[in-house]
Amino acid sequence: MATRDCKFLIIGGGPAGLTSAINAASEGLSPVLIDSGPRVGGQARQSSLIENYAGFPEGISGPDLLDRFCRQAAKFATRVQCPAKARTLRIDGARKIITTDDEEFAAKTVLLSIGLSYMRLKAPGMLELLGKGLEYGAPLIDPTTYGKSRICIVGGANSAGQAAMHFSQNPDAHVHLIARSPLEDKMSQYLVDRIRGCANITVHEGAEVSEVHGTEKLTGVSLKFKDGAASSLDADNMFIFIGAAPKVDWLNGTVGMDAKHFILTGPKLVDTNHWPITRQPYPFETTVPGVFACGDVRLGSVKRVAAAAGEGSAVVPIIHEYLRHE
Ligand SMILES: Cc1cc2nc3c(=O)[nH]c(=O)nc-3n(C[C@H](O)[C@H](O)[C@H](O)COP(=O)(O)OP(=O)(O)OC[C@H]3O[C@@H](n4cnc5c(N)ncnc54)[C@H](O)[C@@H]3O)c2cc1C
Repeated sequence: MATRDCKFLIIGGGPAGLTSAINAASEGLSPVLIDSGPRVGGQARQSSLIENYAGFPEGISGPDLLDRFCRQAAKFATRVQCPAKARTLRIDGARKIITTDDEEFAAKTVLLSIGLSYMRLKAPGMLELLGKGLEYGAPLIDPTTYGKSRICIVGGANSAGQAAMHFSQNPDAHVHLIARSPLEDKMSQYLVDRIRGCANITVHEGAEVSEVHGTEKLTGVSLKFKDGAASSLDADNMFIFIGAAPKVDWLNGTVGMDAKHFILTGPKLVDTNHWPITRQPYPFETTVPGVFACGDVRLGSVKRVAAAAGEGSAVVPIIHEYLRHE
């Protein structure tokens, strides 16, 4: 396998990685960005309407926004490889060796902007019906293509709320939003208000999916409530948004993480016994000097597009600084 040298390797092309690539490329760092795919853009590609990203007062769909990020990265001739999944990280002196299925990179600095992946719902029938009316996330297609249908959305945060609003635009559909806690606990108030005012959304709070039914295709969902009650719903489709977690098993413990696998970064590392050298860690630097982490995967991150993009841009002068001194 050929080894490719690079100054700055960005692993993960969501808002954090792409913004870092745009800023690094525009400032002459010649970054290489790899993403496991199938497309660059990360979680935000699944958002039907992003209303809190500055500059788009009417809101913008996730795919539209991320296509703009990609065009801007291409404008500065960022080298993007997708699909290319990072499989291993190994430290060899000052070089960080990253392997994908086809290539090996020897990088002076690395940015881990690998975001989060969906958590799996555990209930009888889930494995058998996955892809048969039951999916993680939701396809952003015209909701009227679902015709007269009963659609269950599982989850209590903004991603589930946005999906419920998206499908409610189909006047022939009825949407059931199933959440473990009151919506107000995790969802932005503007979405809660819209959902509560929507005639074709029924909210089931304090409820969990206990079983899914169907053979060739999803036909129904059983619910169990916190107070011990149970009920069932007829359902044609179910889209699941029950949270996400970092997918960091491939890092094999190379960088320090908390118990939930969020990556530790920044000056506070000196207060732990994880920081290995005498100089202070830079902001966004992990327990491996020269390896940085930004966006949702970083412990303490805000889990928003703008925050991830901001971190991706803020890390670039720090990469310059690191390269000047190492
Ligand atoms: C449905 C939905 C709706 C949302 N709506 C909003 C909203 O309205 N407003 C808002 O501010 N935020 C919203 N968010 C949250 C927002 O999308 C995230 O906070 C943001 O995308 C985080 O960006 P990131 O770059 O840190 O990570 P991600 O977007 O998760 O991107 C990480 C990238 O890394 C890649 N990757 C992972 N592992 C590897 C590997 N081993 N090798 C190579 N590549 C890898 C992935 O393929 C992915 O492309 C929403 C999220 C979802 C799921």
